[in-house]
Amino acid sequence: MTEVIDGEAVAADVRAGVADCVDTLADAGVTPGLATVLMSDDPASETYVSMKQRDCEEVGIEGIHVDVDADASAATLFETIDELNGRDDVHGVLVQLPVPAHVDRREVLRRIDPEKDVDGFHPENVGRLVAGDARYKPCTPHGVQKLLAAYDVETDGADAVVIGRSDIVGKPMANLLVQKGPGGNATTTVCHSHTSDLESKLADADIVVAAAGIPEFVDGSMITSGATVIDVGINRVDADTDRGYELVGDVAYDSVADVAGAITPVPGGVGPMTRAMLLYNTVKAAGRQHDVDVDLP
Ligand code: NDP
Repeated sequence: MTEVIDGEAVAADVRAGVADCVDTLADAGVTPGLATVLMSDDPASETYVSMKQRDCEEVGIEGIHVDVDADASAATLFETIDELNGRDDVHGVLVQLPVPAHVDRREVLRRIDPEKDVDGFHPENVGRLVAGDARYKPCTPHGVQKLLAAYDVETDGADAVVIGRSDIVGKPMANLLVQKGPGGNATTTVCHSHTSDLESKLADADIVVAAAGIPEFVDGSMITSGATVIDVGINRVDADTDRGYELVGDVAYDSVADVAGAITPVPGGVGPMTRAMLLYNTVKAAGRQHDVDVDLP
């Protein structure tokens, strides 16, 4: 029987643990605060930001939101970031990506105070992750790591294939899987659009993390029997629904579920974990900034 990895359930456990951390911080007189900054008119980005704000409210994190006009200058965005970096009641600062083309994304990431960089994208935090001394692990790969642990999927000695090498998913995912220690120790192959013969790389994989952004890219014929398949992809495809589209992953679910030992659904797999791990990083940030020990879930 293929095990369906329930991201909603694991995320609920993480959120409950985060709520306990909020209580611990409250006892020390600290209310954790997360600032989101949106410089975009994209409805999907607006939805993501409002979901993050709602998530904060649910666990007792103070959500602060700032809109920056999509036509404003980069300097205006940087002033906003500087102001949030300087606020004592703001422990995490997140600029929703993508930013407009006239703003240099890398400069944005460098502008955020690394102590408040709860996305874990600042070069200092990327370097720490690679060095095995992570301050804030990026939310999506960290969420995947938590899912694997929750379902006792052994990474130690496993052959893992990560499909995708983006800065926000593929690369940090691979870096977590190769780290020495719990949740790591996997022999990890990173595949991308220039990979020749992806099928042969997947043939021996015990763990596959699909993050290519291509609907139903991975099918059952590419997966070895009993493998754990984690589907990071969230792709909108046209469909005869009220919204005119449906969300599908990078994995052809039915065909892979016939072969895999365990699989994440879309929705209800990695997505809820990404959201929960942002809350996790925010309480961690508040604890660090006020020298309060929080018992992270
Ligand atoms: P990107 O578009 O930044 O990266 C996609 C990666 O896939 C690139 O490295 C690209 O290679 C690689 N790729 C493209 N085509 C192929 C191919 N034929 N074979 C192998 N690799 C290929 O996407 P993201 O990493 O940001 O996101 C990936 C997916 O995950 C998207 O569907 C996104 O919506 C989703 N997502 C989901 C989240 C969640 O919470 N569940 C969070 C973040 C993202 P190359 O580098 O050569 O171009």
